[in-house]
Amino acid sequence: MKISARIASSRPLATTAMHGRVETLRNEGRPVIDFSIAISHFPAPRVVLDAVAGVIERQRTLPYTSVVGELRLRRHLLAKLRSENGLEADSGEIIVTNGAKQALYEALYVTSDPGDGVLIFKPHWPAYVATAQLLGLRPILADLPDEITEEGLAALEPARIVIINNPHNPTGKVYTRRELECIRDWVARTGARVIVDESYEHLVFEGRQTSLAALCDWRGIGVVTIFSASQSYAMMGWRIGFALAPAEVVQAMQTLQGPITAAAPHLSQVAADAAFASGASPAMLADYRARRDLAVDLFAGTPWIVMHAPDSGPYLWGDVRGLTLDSAGFAEALLEAKQVAVLPGEALGAPGFIRLGYISDDVATLRDGIRRIVEFGDAYA
Ligand code: PLP
Repeated sequence: MKISARIASSRPLATTAMHGRVETLRNEGRPVIDFSIAISHFPAPRVVLDAVAGVIERQRTLPYTSVVGELRLRRHLLAKLRSENGLEADSGEIIVTNGAKQALYEALYVTSDPGDGVLIFKPHWPAYVATAQLLGLRPILADLPDEITEEGLAALEPARIVIINNPHNPTGKVYTRRELECIRDWVARTGARVIVDESYEHLVFEGRQTSLAALCDWRGIGVVTIFSASQSYAMMGWRIGFALAPAEVVQAMQTLQGPITAAAPHLSQVAADAAFASGASPAMLADYRARRDLAVDLFAGTPWIVMHAPDSGPYLWGDVRGLTLDSAGFAEALLEAKQVAVLPGEALGAPGFIRLGYISDDVATLRDGIRRIVEFGDAYA
């Protein structure tokens, strides 16, 4: 069947494509170690499983909830925003979505018009560019500096919307308060709207990240802040995210979401309610930190890769410009020869790097995978 021009020129996300390749290889009986994405090896928290089990045992009917999400859940989310993020809002200013991804799509959709420029710092999570392209927007890619400064921001091409990912996938950068203040002042001057994706807020190894919205008049400036249960509570497949935004933006997101998915699944909302009410797990963060340190140690002394311990998040971001082949070629050859999947920087707008999720498997597999990468890369150093 003929596919519409609207979608025909788009490709599946690099992460989706890699996932498909890994599955195919595994179905062929090849034991692939998949570092291309970070799927927590933790189950969802006990309180989440108990809440869901309670619904099933009581055979409770789960009707549609309102499109913006169940009121009880939204109240817990407002309490979370107050206590964790220093943000005061009311229930008309949040909307529960099918993962942060849906919140991102909707937020971009309702705050832009086709052809508008969207500033995205690279390296970037692949979905930012893909979503902007699906909506007919114009991604403006700029290098993410080590430090955001007023001068650096002033030199950027003006954009209608700015996407900030804090904490940042894939580098693990956690924006400082000073950097966020620079961004705040800059967007207040330029009139750009801001979407801040804080999906990794609970994976910061020292201290906490600061929400940009807590430093400004987010209603006046036009800041949408996106959160997710996926990484905070090891609930990737439950598909719950939510957005805090000015009431008129939430209203517009609701108008968009209604005909597409209606509310997020009610059972997942019950699960998310239990998760957000109980808070993130220090034990999970400690486990990730230990794995991060182990993984960085295992790469130490390897001359062709520069790998720093990230300040947050489930990924290592390695500079492989010391290799004799490019990062896409390296990732491809590594998968074929050693059955280890990593995501090449090309997929994140930054050739010369590889991204490696380190929280998915047991520690023995993590060691084995890194040993295979190091052995393989040595031949191309
Ligand atoms: N935002 C970033 C930066 C991510 O890396 C991810 C997951 O990979 C998400 C959002 C997705 O969140 P969700 O699973 O809630 O759609």
